Amino acid sequence: MTRRIDIHSHFFPSITREEAASLDPEHAPWLAPAAGGESAMIMTGSREFRPVTRPLWDARRRVEDMDRLGIDIQLMCATPVMFGYRYPAKKTLEWAQRMNDRALEMCAVAPNRLNVLAQVPLQDIELACAEASRAFAAGHHGVQIGNHVGAKDLDDEGLIRFLTHCALEGIPVLVHPWDMMTDGRMKKWMLPWLVAMPAETQLSMLSLILSGAFERIPKTLKLCFAHGGGSFAFLLGRVDNAWRERDIVRENCPRLPSSYVDRFSVDSAVFDESALQLLVDVMGPERVMLGSDYPYPLGEQQVGKLIEAHAGLDALAKRQLMSGNAQRFFNLADLDVAAA
Ligand SMILES: [Zn+2]
Repeated sequence: MTRRIDIHSHFFPSITREEAASLDPEHAPWLAPAAGGESAMIMTGSREFRPVTRPLWDARRRVEDMDRLGIDIQLMCATPVMFGYRYPAKKTLEWAQRMNDRALEMCAVAPNRLNVLAQVPLQDIELACAEASRAFAAGHHGVQIGNHVGAKDLDDEGLIRFLTHCALEGIPVLVHPWDMMTDGRMKKWMLPWLVAMPAETQLSMLSLILSGAFERIPKTLKLCFAHGGGSFAFLLGRVDNAWRERDIVRENCPRLPSSYVDRFSVDSAVFDESALQLLVDVMGPERVMLGSDYPYPLGEQQVGKLIEAHAGLDALAKRQLMSGNAQRFFNLADLDVAAA
């Protein structure tokens, strides 16, 4: 059976209300376990944020799920509500360090199976660079960042500096959409997740491309976008057309937008055979990696099934998507050695 590395899964440690209050008593997230301990509610202050289940914070339970799903290695990252970009940077640094250390404790339960990406106080670039380096040296396999910090998108000078730091230090970066643009118009039916999240990701990718940032960021940067890059692949033709036809689109971007697809990767969380085919056609089979969004309900429930059952991908492409690309991207040990 093809080896499987899931590069996009979330955790949320057992944060107490008191711990959260040290960051912010009104808004910082904490975990309120339900009776029996199999489920819980993520709270922000005294408000209910999201109902969750035990694998989110229990590493042993995660590994049981991985065994059931046939996942060899899982990359975990913070649930975006943990980012803390809105608070004073030094407080968020202490919080990020605490979360990053807790994540390593979870990984220690099954060091050959669980790996983690760190979070950083992205509102302060010096502190963010320092924590990315500290966490990477401590055993994290990269960093996960939110796709924006308030009004700053990835073409912001500070964020370009952070990405350049990661490139120079060889730290892989996963960009996850969060804090979705809704303007109060998408209150129901999870519309912020269904409409705004894919747009957030496309906005981040186009911010890097059209600003010319990829002309300045070292090509060694390992950069991956979640959820198949959102609406990027489907609308890339529209962007190329705009670049050809309007000088204001070309203003800071010297080359055709589609020529930059070799500067980043995406995960495979698109839930549809035709969409995955398009994604592989646009990105190339060497730049798509299995990513599920486990253990959340909007993730792929049978992790890897979309790739495994795909009629249009050959055996080599499936191996690349399932594990080969991720192994190289995250510098993971050879799986056969790891399993020995
Ligand atoms: Zn996710």
